[in-house]
Amino acid sequence: MSKPDISRAKSAALYEKAKTYFPGGVNSPVRAFKSVYGTPLFIEKGDGSHIWDADGNEFIDFCCSWGPLILGHNHASVRNKVMEVMQNGMSFGAPTALENELAELILTNNKFIEKIRFVSSGTEAVMSAIRLARGYTKRDKILKFEGCYHGHTDALLVKAGSGLVTFGETSSAGVPKAFADETIVVALNDKEALQKAFEEFSGQIAAVIIEPVPANNGLLLQTQDYLTFLLEICTRNGTMLLFDEVISGFRIGFEGAAGYYGIRPDIITYGKIIGGGLPVGAYGASAEIMDHISPVGSVYQAGTLSGNPVAMAAGIAQLTELLQPGFYQELEAKTTGFVNSVREFVAQRGYAVKVFTIGSIFWFAFTDQDTIRTADEIDPNSMLKFKAMHRELINRGIYLGPSGYEVGFISSAHTTDDLDRTKTAIFDSLDIVFELNSTI
Ligand code: PLP
Repeated sequence: MSKPDISRAKSAALYEKAKTYFPGGVNSPVRAFKSVYGTPLFIEKGDGSHIWDADGNEFIDFCCSWGPLILGHNHASVRNKVMEVMQNGMSFGAPTALENELAELILTNNKFIEKIRFVSSGTEAVMSAIRLARGYTKRDKILKFEGCYHGHTDALLVKAGSGLVTFGETSSAGVPKAFADETIVVALNDKEALQKAFEEFSGQIAAVIIEPVPANNGLLLQTQDYLTFLLEICTRNGTMLLFDEVISGFRIGFEGAAGYYGIRPDIITYGKIIGGGLPVGAYGASAEIMDHISPVGSVYQAGTLSGNPVAMAAGIAQLTELLQPGFYQELEAKTTGFVNSVREFVAQRGYAVKVFTIGSIFWFAFTDQDTIRTADEIDPNSMLKFKAMHRELINRGIYLGPSGYEVGFISSAHTTDDLDRTKTAIFDSLDIVFELNSTI
């Protein structure tokens, strides 16, 4: 039986007010709940794996601020470190020892990069890394994949046209066509398209950028073979391979996807987890490549709040926890157990649902297919089922990101009890979704 909708009166009033201040009432579009039912929930508090909205509704949270909160909300060591550092001031625009400390923590535990530069968001990290690749190779074109998201920088707000290898078409007003013309777009998991792109634009491609774990348009897991091919074709063509690990970095292991697949890209970008919930991004590479960045090199990049001490403090505290022995194994085991229970349930019921997972990331796909590796394999109509499930879950105290294209995250704060309650809620919700099947 469908549950009655929770009260959202206070969230709704806040949203009405927000609409007078911000375009669409939000400061980032997906928060507007356009793809699911109801007004966006205004969150008041988070603790561990739970969040509370303005109406006092409590939820088990699987959005985790879109990934950064791998320790859950308001983790004591992150909070304490931030509060300690804040006593001394919040920004100096001058170097601090905290930047060294976070860099050392990362570089001594990640063999894939030798030097790093801190910035303030994932978008900024990617934008800077692209400039570095162009400056280093002295080439202009970049190649991206349909179904990967890399933030809202102009060169990457492009989508595929209708051929095997296409120049990007801008996916946002305001992106000059001339910028999109420098971005080639191909499908994921398609060696032929990649080969063709390298033939067509021989000697022109500065960088190939990929989310090695594509997690922004469903979870489009790539094969080891394909990622290895990618590295080889880039190496053969003098093109830099750029792993965008804003989601996968420190999530599927401390060394992210590079460590997971054992592939050394030329440049890696990070965000989300690296900042412990505060605004931090970063990009890193070999010392030789990184020394092309200003002030030693000719590629300019800067930031007033880059390496901000409070953000560094949060990152130091969070990453220190991640380095505890067994951290990732435990988190992955918890996720696998959860995912397997759902898989067993849907198999028993014969529902067309697949749960894809890697590390502590999971994604529900309303499909019969055993693998989904490209964006065009996702049926847009299946999102109606997600929408119905999202509503049922919200009404049962479970918070998933408000779009069926978004993945879910499990944190170390999620308890067995949380996951048991979530499973029950998912089973009940799926029963309702598939009962309604004929009308969806
Ligand atoms: N790259 C990837 C893979 C992302 O998932 C995101 C954001 O979700 C970004 C870049 C942009 O990061 P930010 O939202 O911090 O600018």
